[in-house]
Formats: sequence, structure tokens, C-alpha cells
Amino acid sequence: MGRNIFFSLDKVQTSLVLIKNLCDILIVSTSVVVIDRVAHTIFMVVTNNSIKDSWFILNISMMISALVLRLVFSLFSNKITFKISAKIKINVREKIYSKLLDLEMSYKDIKKTGGLVTTSIEGVEALEVFFGFFLPQIFLSILIPFGLYFYLRIYQPTIALALVLGVPLIPLCVGAVQAWIRHVSRMHWSTYEDLNSLYLDSIQGITTLKLFNLVEQRTNTIRTRSWEFRNRTMKLLYTNLVSILTMDIIALMGTALGITLAIIYLSSHLITLAGAIVVLFLSYEMFRPLRGLGSAFHAAMNGISASKSIFEILDQKTKLEKSKPFIMLSSKENFDIEFCNVNFTYTTDTPQVLKGVNFIAKTDQITAIVGISGSGKSTIANLIVKLYEPASGQIYIDKHDIENISRNNIRKYIAMVSQRTYLFHGTIRENLLIARPESTEEELYLVCKKAGIDCFIKSLPNGLDSSIVEHAKNISAGQIQRFGIARALLKDTPILILDEPTADVDRENEAKIIETIKEISKNKTTIVIAHRLSTIRDSDKIIVLNNGIISEEGTHEELMEKNSVYVSLVHHQLEHESADVKEDMIKIYARVSGAGSARKPRDRRGSKDRGCTE
Ligand code: ADP
Ligand code: MG
Repeated sequence: MGRNIFFSLDKVQTSLVLIKNLCDILIVSTSVVVIDRVAHTIFMVVTNNSIKDSWFILNISMMISALVLRLVFSLFSNKITFKISAKIKINVREKIYSKLLDLEMSYKDIKKTGGLVTTSIEGVEALEVFFGFFLPQIFLSILIPFGLYFYLRIYQPTIALALVLGVPLIPLCVGAVQAWIRHVSRMHWSTYEDLNSLYLDSIQGITTLKLFNLVEQRTNTIRTRSWEFRNRTMKLLYTNLVSILTMDIIALMGTALGITLAIIYLSSHLITLAGAIVVLFLSYEMFRPLRGLGSAFHAAMNGISASKSIFEILDQKTKLEKSKPFIMLSSKENFDIEFCNVNFTYTTDTPQVLKGVNFIAKTDQITAIVGISGSGKSTIANLIVKLYEPASGQIYIDKHDIENISRNNIRKYIAMVSQRTYLFHGTIRENLLIARPESTEEELYLVCKKAGIDCFIKSLPNGLDSSIVEHAKNISAGQIQRFGIARALLKDTPILILDEPTADVDRENEAKIIETIKEISKNKTTIVIAHRLSTIRDSDKIIVLNNGIISEEGTHEELMEKNSVYVSLVHHQLEHESADVKEDMIKIYARVSGAGSARKPRDRRGSKDRGCTE
């Protein structure tokens, strides 16, 4: 059983579980009263005793009252069951979500989205059976046989003892096969999660699959996995059937034993007729709770298996932020960013990404980080916004170690355009307003203009209120990138980090974006990460990252003078441009100052996104 499966019960829920148990015990007690009264009535009728009206009325009243109470307790018990389940589900989902936020991406990075969806939606759903039915049933299974034992003892102690001794055979049998059932159930759940992941992955990547002619191959994989899931389901059903059958046989044999003993004892006058009738009715009741527990156990197994995945998430270690009071950054500060001997690795089994990184990005300056793909540029940005924490070394913002600044506080002062801007399903306006909800229409258009996306918005029939579909499939990569920039401009923070802001835009818009960056970088600490070196040509400082190590830094001119990695990056980039673009680029690299303003480059990159300039 999941070691922490009871974690989600708080005090209120524990009390609810106890109240439910009390209700269930009262339900059984009212049933016993009814059976007892029925047995005595039959006894009176069979033995031809003259039944007094008052006795009869009392008897009937007791039976009716017991039945009414039974109904009330049942309703109450069911209501509590739903209440407990609903509360627990909300509780667990909240815990999963806040844990994912705490994990700051690292868990999501390794666990596939489909598996996460299965865990947080269906896995939590499966917990309902565990807490709503299985858990209360455990208490009933212990209490009811004992209660009935003491009641039956009144009529015949030996029969009561024989019955109560037969009851533990059920958990013993279930216990014997429990490891097997648990294994089968766990395999079933993990196959289910895998199938969901594969399915979601296939739907999300359907275009790629089509382009590579892999649809049939992927369909076959899904078919094979579906069959595997079907086989695991059949195996699970088989194990359930075998164990339910075993439990039924024990319960029926126990009941038969009770009835046989009652008949034998009745013929030997060792039990009254009323007692024998009570035994007849109640023998099975002795076994019913444990039989129910056995059935609930199978249903709960899904919850227990799901709990494994849930705890896999919840048990992930997060570097909890310190409880000591954080330093609060204030907007008056200067926002120099300094890396001091920073080392970083994503996971223990992957190579070190940053190796002793030292640099300063000054306020009022544009600091560029360049390097080949995979050299660790985005990782530096991720560390500044505290999406991850360094393995060793310090990162300072105005001499404050960011370890001592809360994530929320730090992010208030940083606008970051990540390499993959995410636009939510909704309107363009909603997507922009998340940066600053109180922005006016004019402000929205102004930032869109600066980001070079205003003409596109104006060309849409609904302008800012046009819809963005799921995964922003109706918008090109370059436009998404420019929306990201517009959002960052709107946030207007003292630190601006742009991760490949021009990767997917055409040269004309690149110039426009460079101009905007220059314009807004005044009084800000701006870090621009760029693969395309023309973007950062005029930066105040260029840092060259080579396999996680800063190999050199300086201005473009300084770096070009050395026989440096930067020079080889420039040459490498020029080699991959077409002849006319190359000509343009050589001019840019050779120029001494004023990148965007003086030039009107021709755009010959047909494949790149084309915005509109005015
Ligand atoms: P760049 O931005 O320079 O292209 P990144 O900083 O994105 O490079 O990545 C640096 C290295 O870290 C790469 O080898 C990449 O595979 C690895 N990496 C990036 N993100 C993760 C992650 N979430 N988990 C594990 N490794 C990662
Ligand atoms: Mg990157």
C-alpha cells in the first residue's frame, strides 16, 4: 500500500471517516434489530403462542423505526462518502499542482505529459474508491463480526464462536494472493499511463508523424500497446475473479456451517427456534463485511497503484525555499546580475551543463550570451529566474545572493522571453494582459508595435480580441516570439532577458526588434541570448559560452580582433548564409556602430516569418 496513502486525510476528513463508520455500524445494528424482531415474530407464530396486540404493535413499531433509521443512516453515510471523496480529490489535485509548481519544471521535464494527466485526473479519481469505500469497510469488517459474535452468543455461544473463527479465513486468503494482485494491478496501471502518454504524444506530434510518413508505424505501436493494455486488463479481471470466487466460497461455506449447526442444535434443543432463525439470517452477515472488503480491495487496488504515481510526484525533492525572511528587492536598486563560479547539472545522470561560470551583466547595458546550441545559454537564463538552482556558486542581483530572494519577488523584476513562448488558449488581449492586467488599449498597441506585431493584429477581423487556439497553432513561430517580446515590454521590469528573440523572425523584423531592445534597455539590465550573431552585434558586452565554460568576453570589435571562438562562430554563421545575405551580414559585422538604425536590409529568407513594418 502506498506508504503515504493516508496523507490526504486532514482532521476534518478523519472525523468524517469516523462518522461514516459510526453510521455504518448503526445501519447494521438496525438490520439486526429487524432480523431479531422478525425471528421472534416467526417464533411466536410457529409456536402458536397467543400474540398480544400490544406486543405485536410494539414489535411492528420497532421494525418500522429500525427500517426508517436504517434509511436515514444510509443516506447520511452515502452523503459523507461523497463528501470525503470530493474533498480528498480536490486536496490531492491541489497538492500535485502546487508540487509541480514547486518542482519548477524539473519533474515535468522527465515525466511525460500524458502520464501526468493520467495521474492528476484519473489517478486521483481512483483514490475515491480507496477512501470512500475501502477505508470505511476496513473498520466495518473488524467491528461487525465481533458485534454479531456477542449478539449470537446470547442464543448459542458455540455457533457464534464457530462463525467468528471462520471469518478471518477471508483476509487470510486475500492476504495470500495480495502480492500477486498488487503486482498485476500495478502493471495494469503503468501500462495505462504509458498508453495515455503515447496517445497524447502521437496526437500532439501528428503533423511531424505525417511529414515523416510515420503515421502507420505509430498506429501499429498504439495498437500493440492497446493489446498489451487489454491483456493486462484481462489478467487483472482474472485475478479479481479468482479471489472474489475464493471469498464467496468461504463466506457461503461459513454460512452453511452456521445454518447446519443451528439445525443440529435445534434438534438437540441446545438453541431456541428464535435463536436458530436469528442464526439463519445472520450467518451470512458475519461474512458480508469482509466479503465486501475483499471486493473493495480490488477496486481500491487501482487507487493504491495510482497512489504510487501520485507519491512519485509528491515525494520529489524540491529545494524548499528557506523559511528565514527573504530580502525584498525594491525597484530603487541597481540590478546588476553577477554569476560567481556557478556550476549546474540538470539531473545526476546528465553531464554538467555550466562549469564555473563567472560574469557580470550591468544595468544600463546589453549583455549578450552567444555560443553553439547546447552550450548552456538558456540554462543561464533559467538560473537567473530561479527555475532551477545552481549546484554550487552564487548568483547575485545587486550584490544580493538570489538564494535569499524569493522566487516570486525576483520574478516581479524580471521579464523573460523564453525560447519557446507559450500562448494560452484564449484571445491575444488575454495573453498580453497576463504581463500587466491594468494595461490600456494604447499601451497594448504600443508594445505590439515595438515588437513588430501590430500590423498582424490590425489585419485580424477581431484585432486584439482574436482567438489563439490551443498550442497557438493558428500563429506562426515568429509571431509567437514577437508576442512574447510584447508581453515582456508590457511587464516593463528592470531586468529583461531575451532568449533567442529573433530566431524565427525575418531580417527586417530582426532589425526592428534590435532597435526596440536598444531603446528599452536604458536603465535596465538586459541579457540577450542569441544564436544569430547579427542580433547582438552592438551589445555592450558579448559573453561567449563554450560547452558550459565562458571562453571569452568583450565587445564585438574586441572579440573580432582576437583569434577567438567568437570569430569562428561568425565565420561559421557566414558560411551557412546565402551569398546575398552573407554580403549584408559582412557589412553588419564590419560596421563599428548603430546596427539597426542605418540599414534597411533586404529579406531574402523566404522561410522565415514575415511581419509588417511601417
Ligand atoms: P542552449 O540554450 O545553449 O542551446 P541549453 O542551456 O538549453 O543550451 O542546454 C544546455 C545543455 O543542457 C544541453 O546539453 C541540454 O541537452 C541540457 N538540458 C537542457 N535542459 C535540460 C533539462 N530540462 N533536463 C536535462 N538536460 C537539459
Ligand atoms: Mg537555448
